Amino acid sequence: MKIGIPRALLYYYYIPFWKTFFEALNHEVIISDETNKGILNKGIQESVAEICVPIKLFVGHAHQLIKKGVDYVFVPRMLSIYQGEYFCPKFMGLPDMMKHGVNGIAEKILTCHITSDEDSISDYHYYLPLAKQLEATEEQIKKAVEAAEKKWRIFRMYSQMGYTVPQALEMVENNQLLKKKDKRQYDLRIGLLGYVYNIYDSFISMDMLEKLQEMDVDFVTFEMEGEQILRKQIDFMPKKLFWTFSNKLLGAGYKFLNNKEVDGLIHITAFGCGPDSFLSKLLEIRAEEQGIPFMMIRVDEHTGENHLQTRIEAFIDMLRRKKIAG
Ligand code: SF4
Repeated sequence: MKIGIPRALLYYYYIPFWKTFFEALNHEVIISDETNKGILNKGIQESVAEICVPIKLFVGHAHQLIKKGVDYVFVPRMLSIYQGEYFCPKFMGLPDMMKHGVNGIAEKILTCHITSDEDSISDYHYYLPLAKQLEATEEQIKKAVEAAEKKWRIFRMYSQMGYTVPQALEMVENNQLLKKKDKRQYDLRIGLLGYVYNIYDSFISMDMLEKLQEMDVDFVTFEMEGEQILRKQIDFMPKKLFWTFSNKLLGAGYKFLNNKEVDGLIHITAFGCGPDSFLSKLLEIRAEEQGIPFMMIRVDEHTGENHLQTRIEAFIDMLRRKKIAG
């Protein structure tokens, strides 16, 4: 069977797991193309206007997979990956949103519930409800999950070695380490915070990573840090945020700021993102306390690339002048 995986949302965090899982069960995995204007337009057309752009993109990518003729589109219901915390409600309701809101997709959705209390999503029981559709036995599901977990752990190890998600994915695929630029060659280091699907979808982030690289700026992102390190940073909070990925970002932001590991912090957020309205404010307050410049960039489907380019260049110029002035 052909299983479609939209190149959106948690594709950028769990794709090595899901791809390996389906392939281990002898199914062909089809991943939608890199985001383009057509995918975005379809997502906008099929979604309610007020929803955030990452969800609109997920819808657009799912549509493309249907057009490519897949038998199923994988839309997991992500509920939790940390005890007592949850995903943003849009993740929890994603299969329903797709089923009831998107024309012609209901019969093609392949879904299961992920309710882990850790980053790893490798309890095979989550995937057992898929056994019938995937024509697999319990034992086969179990083995496929083991293989998937192994691959995903290697991917996470690469991320924590400081590789970006595309680099880590390439290394997992080719089983070969990429060369990294010597960090001492950079004069500036930025903390680049945002959900993986905002940072690594070059259409949403408008090639922000490349822009920083062209400006010779080093950057660090939240998924390059270990889970325990991130958690330690927010231990002092009597009440954490409700949403796990927001807590990961907050932990990373606090680490970069508290230890003065970065010269500036950029938070990329999607218009209409509820969790980020808390997160961005908390980051801004801590950045101000630490005297580290902070910039929030809010993107939506109308954001213009020139506008973004100007803001980034101005921010980087300011950081360089600040550094020279001591
Ligand atoms: S966390 Fe924000 S950007 Fe992500 S799906 Fe939820 S509302 Fe959208």
